[in-house]
Amino acid sequence: MGGPNENGNSGASDRRRKRLSEKQTMLVQKISDGTVIDHIAAGKALSVLRLLGNPQARGDTVALVMNVSSSKMKRKDIVKVEGVEISEEQVQKLALIAPQASVNIIRSYRVVDKKNAVPPKLLSGVLNCNNPTCVSVKEKDSVSPIFSLAEISPLSYQCKYCGRKLAEQDILSQLG
Ligand SMILES: [Zn+2]
Repeated sequence: MGGPNENGNSGASDRRRKRLSEKQTMLVQKISDGTVIDHIAAGKALSVLRLLGNPQARGDTVALVMNVSSSKMKRKDIVKVEGVEISEEQVQKLALIAPQASVNIIRSYRVVDKKNAVPPKLLSGVLNCNNPTCVSVKEKDSVSPIFSLAEISPLSYQCKYCGRKLAEQDILSQLG
């Protein structure tokens, strides 16, 4: 009599199937309108949410997928925000938090715009120099900070005025 056993087995595999399909749904579920940010380096999803102004705190629906395996990068995070389109200024900052991220703007379930968060060669008015004697700090009302990309990984930028470099951690802390 294999009855109870079979039942037990099929119950277990149903549960497995259910778990798997829930997992897949979480990864692929489409949003109708909003922003999907993919290929965020694992562990940076919460920084990306902060950059977006913590939309979940304003009542927007947010889906976070963290630490999933990726073919492009070892492990990645994904952030989906329903009903919010990322601004150009935010894409520029996103490039500094998650340099490999790809951004899809969704309207009526369709991708209407794709943006790559590429750290710009020249950066003006986003980061501030942390050298107290730098002219962009001493005369910050008339001199706007300008940085040039020094290194992509780990990310660093160099002040055009005094040559001081901002390391990845300095950049992250300035972006909140
Ligand atoms: Zn400087």
